[in-house]
Amino acid sequence: MQHYDVVVVGAGPAGIGLATMLAKLPDLDYTLLEGGLIGESLRRWPAQTRFITPSFYSNPFGLADLNAVDALSSPALHCGVEHPSGAQYADYLSFVAQQHNLPIRENCHVQEVASAADGGFILSTEQGELTTRFLVWATGEYQFPELSPFPGASWCQHYAEVENWADFTAPRYSVIGGYESGVDAAINLVQLGRSIRLLARKSSWDPSSPHDPSLSLSPYTRGRLDEAVNTGRLEIVFGADIVEVIANADTGFSIHAADGRQWACEQPPILGTGFISGGGASQIESLWERDHQGQIRLNEVDESTLTPGLFLVGPQVRHDPQIYCFIYKFRQRFSMLATYLAERLEIDAWVLEADNQVWGAFGNQECCEECQC
Ligand SMILES: Cc1cc2nc3c(=O)[nH]c(=O)nc-3n(C[C@H](O)[C@H](O)[C@H](O)COP(=O)(O)OP(=O)(O)OC[C@H]3O[C@@H](n4cnc5c(N)ncnc54)[C@H](O)[C@@H]3O)c2cc1C
Repeated sequence: MQHYDVVVVGAGPAGIGLATMLAKLPDLDYTLLEGGLIGESLRRWPAQTRFITPSFYSNPFGLADLNAVDALSSPALHCGVEHPSGAQYADYLSFVAQQHNLPIRENCHVQEVASAADGGFILSTEQGELTTRFLVWATGEYQFPELSPFPGASWCQHYAEVENWADFTAPRYSVIGGYESGVDAAINLVQLGRSIRLLARKSSWDPSSPHDPSLSLSPYTRGRLDEAVNTGRLEIVFGADIVEVIANADTGFSIHAADGRQWACEQPPILGTGFISGGGASQIESLWERDHQGQIRLNEVDESTLTPGLFLVGPQVRHDPQIYCFIYKFRQRFSMLATYLAERLEIDAWVLEADNQVWGAFGNQECCEECQC
């Protein structure tokens, strides 16, 4: 059985980004385990989905590309576009992994994690067992959609299960969910000539919405939404708190809201209702503690408050009021965590000082009053 100082599970932006820091530490024995291919979740995005955060090659002027996972690379430069597709971004991640010679085992799904007698972890994987002193969980959320947000949701099709919106050939669809994925589904279908009813609890794009893009629609999506509305084929219904979907033998489906309104539709409704709380972290649920809102509790170095030696990176990290659900947010934790792991392993971490200066500056910044997020 092989033993490591650090094992990172997941080779998406979070796992690859953290590993670029680990790669700089001398004599660190570490590996990345990935259940699919590098960037597997991004490879599964619908063909039309694009990054909402823009990429721009600003690196020579000391501003890292907003979507970069290390300070030197740039998705804009690598992909040649401002808003990469999931597949383009996955190729960028593979490029970064190659540049840093990251030791990644692909097609190595981690099936079980157990505590080892010496305080580390035993991992059961598709490729056998291994042990590690520290475990970093970077399994994201995209592959863990919330498939039953209300009764009858099993009749619906979740955004995360869609390969290509062009496969939706009927003239009319209903989409449930008024944030990024629901609105993206509606926009893509309208662009393909379909008529869409978008059922949203509230507008996540009116001026009174919080300014944090983790809570309100991005400017990129707002611009595309305006274009979709202008076609006349997008109807938006606000205040729609959907509580049930019922399948009818004759008419198709009926969608029911808490206030008694209902809408009939011939095609299965499309769900843009999000992902299970904690996403991939729920695979090892018993190793985390949750707060009263169901968020995973982490200490100041993003370590599980229940299981010492287990760390979380990626979009599920929260330190109120900060929500780290975008790459430009959660990448700010990489150098802090890598430095902490080096200290615990008594490895000199001076090589990370420059990264700490680039990324660390804003990692724990409280929101300013002006931004009101
Ligand atoms: C549609 C959509 C659009 C988005 N757009 C943006 C955007 O424009 N900008 C932005 O910054 N963020 C965006 N996000 C947020 C997104 O959460 C992050 O960008 C990013 O994908 C998260 O990276 P990650 O590495 O944590 O997770 P992932 O990219 O999901 O990577 C997790 C990896 O872990 C692997 N894995 C899971 N479980 C196991 C296991 N048990 N064993 C081994 N491997 C496992 C998976 O195969 C996967 O490769 C978007 C999200 C969605 C859903």
